[in-house]
Amino acid sequence: MNKYLQNLLKVPGTQQTKSNNRREFLQKASLGGLALGSFMHSPIEETLEYSTQKVNKYSAPSDLKITDLRIAEVTGAPMRCPIIRIDTNQGIYGLGEVRDGASPKYALMLKSRLLGENPCNVDRIFKKIKQFGGHSRQAGGVCGVEMALWDLTGKAYNVPAYQLVGGKFRDTVRLYCDTAGSDDPAEYARRMKERVDQGFTFLKMDFGIQMLKDEKNVVINKNMYDIGRQWGAEYGSYATTAHPFTAIQITDEGLEKMVDYVKQVRDIVGYEVPLAADHFGHFDTNECIRLGNALEPYRLAYLEDLVPWQYTEKWKEITNSINTPTLTGEDIYLKEEFIKLIDARAIDMIHPDLASSGGILETKKIGDYAEEHGIPMMMHFAGTPVSFMANVHCAAATQNFIALEHHSVDIPWWEDLVTKDQPLVKDGFAIVPDKPGLGIDLNEEVIKEHLVEGTKYFAPTEEWNTDRSADRQWS
Ligand SMILES: [Mg+2]
Repeated sequence: MNKYLQNLLKVPGTQQTKSNNRREFLQKASLGGLALGSFMHSPIEETLEYSTQKVNKYSAPSDLKITDLRIAEVTGAPMRCPIIRIDTNQGIYGLGEVRDGASPKYALMLKSRLLGENPCNVDRIFKKIKQFGGHSRQAGGVCGVEMALWDLTGKAYNVPAYQLVGGKFRDTVRLYCDTAGSDDPAEYARRMKERVDQGFTFLKMDFGIQMLKDEKNVVINKNMYDIGRQWGAEYGSYATTAHPFTAIQITDEGLEKMVDYVKQVRDIVGYEVPLAADHFGHFDTNECIRLGNALEPYRLAYLEDLVPWQYTEKWKEITNSINTPTLTGEDIYLKEEFIKLIDARAIDMIHPDLASSGGILETKKIGDYAEEHGIPMMMHFAGTPVSFMANVHCAAATQNFIALEHHSVDIPWWEDLVTKDQPLVKDGFAIVPDKPGLGIDLNEEVIKEHLVEGTKYFAPTEEWNTDRSADRQWS
């Protein structure tokens, strides 16, 4: 290994680095005019604590360099979520997160492109690495790194991440709650009512043809597919066959049952609270329009992902044919595809997942473009508090934001994954923190309890230090 690389790759957290940091800090502190001499007779810890109370400890952001990128992969949050830590030559680090369910390799392969860069040049680094992202989970690495860079920049300049992207529009961020489905509408309604009692002011329900899987004469062509399984990777299965290609149709009787399900939930939850819906099943545009019209009396807040986001023309047709708002976007990478949907007037609302859409700044740009066209932004999210806080900062800084998804209300240890001075969520709203960067730190003990089996807490990743290809995309 050459000397330059060795220098870059000193492992933070080791004794050597810690003593270096202290020496570096003392040098910077004395350069900054601290009169350390006056504390000569106090114990050193006390002296340091007192003398640094009002001093920005990270006083040399222009000399910051990225030295490492490591992963701690948490499971059961409820998803599998790779948390990223980006270390630097000044002892500060940034936290980010690869999107739920994505491989940590999407982030690791970026490491060789990050080493030696100043993390505060967020946009420069983003433009360097964005070619390695793709739609949905393939964007996970780029977006996770982007979050970590804002965390680092905030810590280096001693300001919260929202401040770095233009300041905030709000002090709390409204949350909407995803709630695990049930085939029994009464049971589901009870769960939804519980959300309202917990303080949530915006709800989303899952319902679709999967509820009809065991019934006769309700869904045509379901003999061909296991319509109870919307997720899975098997090629040619229901899960991997896109909506226009299943030849599935819903009979009048099937439609009646679905509508009755929503009615029963609405009757119990009431009409004061916005109630959105998702996961209807894989069927084509005609069925979407029939369903949308049948649901009209229950004034749902929006119908999500009726068809895949790629079908701009189909979305436009659906949106023009029903009177309930339409929404998509949780799998779109970068602003360009959102712009296409917005320019075509194809959807009523956008729904980026910041861990796929391009991170904090790109998602703010997406929100701002939508705002200029009169379109509001909901935000999709399922992950740990690290990615959650990246979302909270972005939501705080984007005017047309309505509500952010919270997927982990029922996971008792979810908030404990991080250390904090105040709860992350209170009465259905997230509190926008004023601490530097994302405003949270990791609770090592709790994270270690929930690591993916066989993985380690921020294990070394040296094998990714030198990964190279000819990265230029033009000639
Ligand atoms: Mg969804």
